[in-house]
Amino acid sequence: MSALAASIQAHVANASLLALAWDLFSILALLHFLNKLRKVRLGALLKFVPGLDGKIHKQIDDETRKAVADLFKPEMTTSADERVPDKGMAPEQVLEHLKKLQKSNADAQKGRIFAYVYDPLQEGISKCIHDAAHIFMEHNALSPMTFPALRKMEVDVATMALNLQNAPVKEGAVGCMTSGGSESILMALKAYRERAAAKGIQNPEVILCVTAHGAFPKGCHMFGIKTVYVPHDKAYQVDVAAIRKAITKNTCLLVASAPQYPHGIIDPIEAVAALAAEHDIPCHVDACVGGFILPWIEKCGFKLPLWDYRVKGVTSISADLHKYGFASKGASVLTFRSSKDRYFQFYACAHWPGGLFVSPGLAGTRSGGPIAAAWAALKCIGADGYMSLAKTMMETSYKFQDGVNAIKGLEIIGQPQMTLVAFRPTDPAINVYVLSDLMQKRGWTLEKQHKPDSIHCTLMPTHARIADQFLVDLKECVAETLAHPELKNDGSAAMYGMVAKVPDESIVDKFLCELMNKIYAPAVSVEERKEAKKTD
Ligand SMILES: *Cc1c(COP(=O)(O)O)cnc(C)c1O
Repeated sequence: MSALAASIQAHVANASLLALAWDLFSILALLHFLNKLRKVRLGALLKFVPGLDGKIHKQIDDETRKAVADLFKPEMTTSADERVPDKGMAPEQVLEHLKKLQKSNADAQKGRIFAYVYDPLQEGISKCIHDAAHIFMEHNALSPMTFPALRKMEVDVATMALNLQNAPVKEGAVGCMTSGGSESILMALKAYRERAAAKGIQNPEVILCVTAHGAFPKGCHMFGIKTVYVPHDKAYQVDVAAIRKAITKNTCLLVASAPQYPHGIIDPIEAVAALAAEHDIPCHVDACVGGFILPWIEKCGFKLPLWDYRVKGVTSISADLHKYGFASKGASVLTFRSSKDRYFQFYACAHWPGGLFVSPGLAGTRSGGPIAAAWAALKCIGADGYMSLAKTMMETSYKFQDGVNAIKGLEIIGQPQMTLVAFRPTDPAINVYVLSDLMQKRGWTLEKQHKPDSIHCTLMPTHARIADQFLVDLKECVAETLAHPELKNDGSAAMYGMVAKVPDESIVDKFLCELMNKIYAPAVSVEERKEAKKTD
């Protein structure tokens, strides 16, 4: 994300500042007035200033085009003339080509990235997982009757997850697999919206912490649910008193994370779930990143707060197999304490001429590959394997935490309980973005965050090998950052600084969506575009 983030920040800054600079003079007075009102968003401002919206759009269009050119090498873009070859290529030739392409992707095994890829680092195990995916890749979980093996594996995986989460399986706790954490979260939101509707709540609201994953606001947006944000406290845990105040008769769900992604800190699940139970509101625990490692960390003897079904009031849990389950990508589980709640997850449509239609998640057709890979990962790694991986990663986590805290001017944010850590400067003279750019020069791709400005590291087994070198480099880069205050005016630091001044986040959102438009499109030069218009 870092290179992307830096470039995006750069161009967002340009786009929004230039857009705002336009006719700034004439809107200055208005801004001054609106500033007093504070809450008025730029969207409202646009309505007052004729032509400004168009101007901003044009500016965003230009800047996103430049951003994409910066982000991707010319040989990695697609031509508008890309077509299915007239004659099929030789399979060896295709594979050779793909192997070349593969080289431009990050290699997670080197331990230089701190997100995205989870590798158990044992060849035999990885091979087993990949072979499993391969065998079932073309089988379709849309029909559990036609593919009973997929149903069997899916229920096996969900049940293994439920037992890891100490769920009351014999009293009706159940689970389904999904394609990932986001889909698990989306399906939970759909279920709780409909559960609320059945109780007569027409305008459902979800209460969540600002640190909750972006899939929650995304799902709320898709399903017409209102998001009610509450802050975190000094320990970076959701502020439970603020939740209490935010509860209304429309509240359909309380959300807590185990842990939240940005700083790797577990919310006070017991307090949130107690509040939920008191008000007869469901409580979803987002254990997407923690769900398949926290149980093993606990079994290794590390002290952890309770976060699973042992906590009364927890009604559902999302846990990703494709993270610390070390399964192939495209696998997560959404579990419910009660099948009465899960009922609302499903969608059925009996009137369709194509037959009686019903499906559990967002997708229709689902590959059996990720299901089989998840099954294989759980069976092949086993409790002994997961505990050994958990122990290694916890040792690395402590090493990172102690090492970072020992560097003057840096501190770990809060008290991370597992293998996700974030750090920030305590010395205002240290700019994390400068620091991150300097680390990038030494080959470390760090995950930049804001609110507060910080760097995130998701630790994997591979990081045990590089922890010492990482800390040496980090210390040297801190010294370099302090020795060169002028670097603040360069690279991503300058950009983040500017972006922080963008008065309205909705302009950044617009920029990001337009950027998607350009990223997922063939490269067409401005000249080609003009030419095509002429011939229209
Ligand atoms: C990764 C993550 C998600 C989303 O999962 P995807 O598989 O990327 O869709 C949700 N919540 C948390 C806490 C996560 O770390």
